Amino acid sequence: MSQINLEKAPPGFEGPGFFATSLDKVVGMARKNSIWPLPYATSCCGIEFMATMASHYDLARFGSERLGFSPRQCDLLMVMGTISKKMGPVLRQVYLQMAEPRWVLAVGACASSGGIFDTYSVLQGIDEIIPVDVYVPGCPPRPEAILDGFMKIQSLVENESVRRRDSEEYKKLMDRYQISL
Ligand code: SF4
Repeated sequence: MSQINLEKAPPGFEGPGFFATSLDKVVGMARKNSIWPLPYATSCCGIEFMATMASHYDLARFGSERLGFSPRQCDLLMVMGTISKKMGPVLRQVYLQMAEPRWVLAVGACASSGGIFDTYSVLQGIDEIIPVDVYVPGCPPRPEAILDGFMKIQSLVENESVRRRDSEEYKKLMDRYQISL
């Protein structure tokens, strides 16, 4: 028999007829369970992602069945596959077109570090051009590993302060990538 698990309420105070918590926690809970991924798949790791989306692994369980192919509608960029240096500016442009708050998941060895392609034409990790939040190891990573990376993103999303994007620390991170906010 199927069982539906409800999301637990965030920590707070409750009494007869009321429940109080902080805005950060409510926003975090809502964002965590409604992430819209943009799959940027260029090669084999993309096939593993297809399996992750299909019925057996079913990314929809995490509230993320709605993939987006317009950067303006998405908040999680999932990069899966080898990224050539020629393709780097395109990937960066896709990232820049996403609205804040946005997160990035590098799936597999190629996206994380260039993988086995230590050549003149391949970007040795997408973090050379855009900031990455979570790296998923493997060549290719199994769907379980992709889900694990996705859940780590969920944890970051859930616990991020609504003010983080205005912080000096975040501005410094963007400055390092020469991205103006
Ligand atoms: S990490 Fe391995 S499986 Fe993934 S895109 Fe690179 S070569 Fe293919």
